[in-house]
Parts: sequence; structure tokens; C-alpha cells
Amino acid sequence: MDLAHSPADEAFRAEARAWLDAHVPRVALPSLETEEGFAAHRAWEAELAADRWSVVSWPAAYGGRDADIVRWLVFEEEYYAAGAPGRVSQNGISLLAPTLFEHGTLEQRARVLPSMASGEVIWAQAWSEPEAGSDLASLTSRAVRTDGGWLLSGQKTWSSRAAFADRAFGLFRSEPDTPKPHQGLTYLMFDLRAPGVTVRPIGRLDGKPAFAELFLDDVFVQDEDVIGEPSRGWRVAMSTAGNERGLTLRSPGRFLASADRLVDLWRSRADPADTALRDRVADAVIGARAYQLFTYANASRFLDGESIGAEASLNKVFWSEYDIALHETALDLLGPEGELADTDWSEGYVFSLAGPLYAGTNEIQRDIIAERLLGLPKGRR
Ligand SMILES: Cc1cc2nc3c(=O)[nH]c(=O)nc-3n(C[C@H](O)[C@H](O)[C@H](O)COP(=O)(O)OP(=O)(O)OC[C@H]3O[C@@H](n4cnc5c(N)ncnc54)[C@H](O)[C@@H]3O)c2cc1C
Repeated sequence: MDLAHSPADEAFRAEARAWLDAHVPRVALPSLETEEGFAAHRAWEAELAADRWSVVSWPAAYGGRDADIVRWLVFEEEYYAAGAPGRVSQNGISLLAPTLFEHGTLEQRARVLPSMASGEVIWAQAWSEPEAGSDLASLTSRAVRTDGGWLLSGQKTWSSRAAFADRAFGLFRSEPDTPKPHQGLTYLMFDLRAPGVTVRPIGRLDGKPAFAELFLDDVFVQDEDVIGEPSRGWRVAMSTAGNERGLTLRSPGRFLASADRLVDLWRSRADPADTALRDRVADAVIGARAYQLFTYANASRFLDGESIGAEASLNKVFWSEYDIALHETALDLLGPEGELADTDWSEGYVFSLAGPLYAGTNEIQRDIIAERLLGLPKGRR
């Protein structure tokens, strides 16, 4: 196996590095979970897009660079190593866009993707409901047929970014009486500022409105905003979920950069005699590298035409548990300051705690691994 990058990939890396070096804000942007920070991150998306760095793996027609998934991974490594801002467009880029590439019409791609790439339209994911999280198929929000479109009603919750975002995509029950709950669902896009939509922000542990609940009361959506066939939305949703857990949500670049920062913290703070803490730092470095190699292996398989399938769940369990361990190590290195001061590490720790929950809880991922990868019998449900 050849683990070296091609000269063309290295030239791409150098171009990305030079651009990031010249453009990454010297002073960190305010948190994207605040109105001010959201606007600043939206402007950063526009800056990335102006030089076609916001969606490198998309076709050039929609603002990308036609880069393959290996180059996307290379870009991500450079992006995080440069300390560039978090991506406020992440839900759209890593969830809705791959879904449109697989199931959307040409008209939908042409209408939705360019404004997503530029940050002009920021998307939220409206899947979860108060009684439908892990058991997503039990959702009850409705889509009722009307002239030229659909009327949406019901309640969605835990919708990240929805407090300040523009549009959302979600699943709705369009046929109430099907034999199985995952039948009769329709996948739709809608405007968060349309008549009938109420957005109620939900505060995170630190009070910042990272989420919102959405109340929908006969919200009109035109036919052209249905993705895939009406009432066949489950299949479309499963393609979104595979992308979320698999390659695109958490690239290794993010963890390689965090592991490097942890080593710097160790060098500047640690008692060299504390070998237990040193070993945890070493574990973090090894973990980041292992995740990088595993992801490149998956990317190669993907480029050879294989699909990622249930292996996506391995990825998800790994990065979510790794992220918590890495941040706990940093907080132990910082001592009381880590708990008391508002630092990148403390904010990162709060966020890491949610990793085993979002994108499908780790209990559910472990069931998938047990049943589909290990061939174990179905668990009790
Ligand atoms: C930071 C964060 C961001 C999120 N962003 C979004 C978003 O943008 N859009 C969106 O739609 N949703 C979002 N969510 C919601 C997320 O998808 C749900 O929280 C998740 O699917 C779990 O659903 P639930 O909260 O209803 O918990 P439940 O499904 O009620 O689960 C509670 C516990 O029971 C366990 N459990 C449930 N069923 C089983 C089973 N069959 N076997 C074993 N264990 C089981 C779960 O693993 C979990 O530990 C977000 C959540 C978080 C924390």
C-alpha cells in the first residue's frame, strides 16, 4: 500500500495552505452560536466561496473545485491546522448537499447549492421531534397535500443553528396509515421565515442558543421542494444519515490539529514526572493518526466504487469518544483554570459531551455494528 500523496495532491495542499495563511482571521471570530458570531461566520463562508474553497469536492458549476474525497481530506487537514473558523454551513454542506447529489433534481441542485456554498442561505436539519429521536420513524409532523404543494404542521426539536439559520430540511408524515412507520414519509425543504413557522431558541449548557425548536402551523411548501418521491422519504433520509456518520461530518484534520494543540499544552504546562498524563497525551496523538489512516482507507474504498455502509457507525463511535477523552486530558492539564475560565478547551469540552448523542446515539451505532458488521443477533428493542 502506498501511503504517500501524489505530487498533484501535494500541490493542492500547498495552494490551500497559502490561501489559508493569507486569509484566516488573526483574531478568533465570536462563537457561531451567537447572533454576532453567526453573522461573522456567514461572512467567512462568503470569503471562502469567493476563491472556491468553501466546497472543494463539489462540481465547479456549483462553486466547487471538482476535488475528490482525498483532496477534501487534505484540505480539511490544512484548514484545521491553520486554526480557521468552525463552519456555520456544515449542516447544509455535509448533510443536505450529498442528499441532493444523490436524490435531488438538476433544478434543485442549481437552485439550492450555489447559495449554500456562499453562505447566503444557511441550512438547519429538522428531523428530531420531542417523541422521535433514536426512533426517528415514529415522527408525527405532517405534510398534507394542497394545491401546488404541501402544508406542514407539527413540532421539531434540537435543530442546530436554527436559531439564526434561513432554511431547513426534514421528514414529514404524508400518509398517516401505512403498515410500517418508515413508510409514508416525505423529505421536504422549507423556509424558516415562512408564515406559520415559529422558531424558539434553546440554550446550551453555557446559555448560547445552539439549537431551536420549530413549531409549524400549516406552512406552505411548493412541490419543487420535495426531495425524491413523495412518501418515499425514508430512503432519502438514510442517505443523509450515512453521510453524517461516515466521512463528512468529522474529518480527521480537526482531531490532528487538536492533538497538536494538546502536545503544545503538555509542553508548556505539564510536570514531566507525570507519566500518566503524558501517556494520555500520547494516546491522543496516536488516536488522531489512527483515525486519519482509517479515514483514508475508507476514502480509497469509496473512490474504488465501494459504499461505506455500516462502517460509518465505527467512525462515529470512534470520533465522538475520542473527542471527549482529548478534551478531558486538556482540562486535566489546565487544572482549575480549565473548569473556571471560558477557554477554547472548555467550550470544546462542553461540545464534545454531545458527540455520543447527535448524528444518532452511540448505543444505536453499537447496535448497528453488532448486527451488521459482526453478525450478532438483534438486540432487545
Ligand atoms: C449537540 C446536538 C445537536 C443536535 N442537532 C440536531 C439537529 O441539527 N437536527 C435534529 O433533527 N436533531 C438534532 N439533534 C438531536 C439528536 O439527533 C437526538 O438527540 C438523538 O437522535 C437522540 O434522540 P433523543 O434525544 O430523542 O433521545 P432518545 O432517542 O430518547 O434516547 C435516549 C437514550 O436511550 C437510548 N436508546 C434509545 N433507543 C435505544 C435502542 N433501541 N437501543 C439502545 N439504546 C437506545 C439512546 O441511545 C439514548 O442514550 C442534536 C442533538 C444534540 C445533542
